[in-house]
Amino acid sequence: MTHIFDLSGKVAIVTGANTGIGQAIALSLAEAGADIAAVGRTPAEETVAKVRALGRKAEIVSADLSSIEPVQRVVDETLEKLGGLDILINNAGIIRRAYSVDFTEADWDAVIDTNLKVLFFLCQAAGRHMIAQGSGKIVNIASLLSFQGGIRVPSYTASKSGAAGLTKLLANEWAAKGVNVNAIAPGYIATNNTAALQADETRNRQIQERIPAGRWGEASDIGGAAVFLSSSAANYVHGHVLAVDGGWLAR
Ligand code: NAP
Repeated sequence: MTHIFDLSGKVAIVTGANTGIGQAIALSLAEAGADIAAVGRTPAEETVAKVRALGRKAEIVSADLSSIEPVQRVVDETLEKLGGLDILINNAGIIRRAYSVDFTEADWDAVIDTNLKVLFFLCQAAGRHMIAQGSGKIVNIASLLSFQGGIRVPSYTASKSGAAGLTKLLANEWAAKGVNVNAIAPGYIATNNTAALQADETRNRQIQERIPAGRWGEASDIGGAAVFLSSSAANYVHGHVLAVDGGWLAR
């Protein structure tokens, strides 16, 4: 019997696959049977080695996702090297912290370009292929700041709120074409992205006290949700932003 979470024979692009949440998602998808195109500016050697050790195919696709210049090549190289494209995980992202009164245009543009503009155009490039084949799964990595305002991260909040909005818009346009577009909103996950918060003793304690689960999430906590939204188990799930946050938003 075919398992509803089985990803055997599927090819997934994971952006920012060299570390953190992206690496964890790549490994979870591979454990479920998918082959992986590990996309990013830092070569994801470790991720590729781990995926191959699981018996799946993995290839590095080098791309600096601070502009849309490499977007079509990412899709073309994936098709060339792995022979298909069924899943897109838009995970690569950055954050810049400063109070709004001091926030610079450079910090605005850098975050919006990587987290929102490139995310959209990767959806477009992969979506064109998926619509033509009549099936595909896109999972955008959103944030708690897709729901909440945050503080000292104006471009990040704008980008992640935008990513949640685009997820719903694309679901409206593509659901009837066999393409599922959803998002995951990770809570506080211990990665490079949150190193500054983890290092701040007071903020660290306040964060942990507010999380019903009582701990930071691990990158691996996000993998199961990514497998679900990439699999046939989610065939009727469209435009959803799934919080994986230890209960933070329930509080
Ligand atoms: P991370 O460890 O800093 O990973 C970010 C990834 O994005 C890295 O692979 C990074 O590559 C890649 N990236 C950044 N800019 C890039 C560019 N211009 N071109 C190509 N790749 C680029 O942080 P993370 O926590 O795993 O973050 C992954 C995603 O989850 C992000 O979208 C983040 O906003 C989101 N998120 C994280 C949390 C959390 O608590 N950690 C919560 C909510 C949402 P390099 O290593 O080369 O920089």
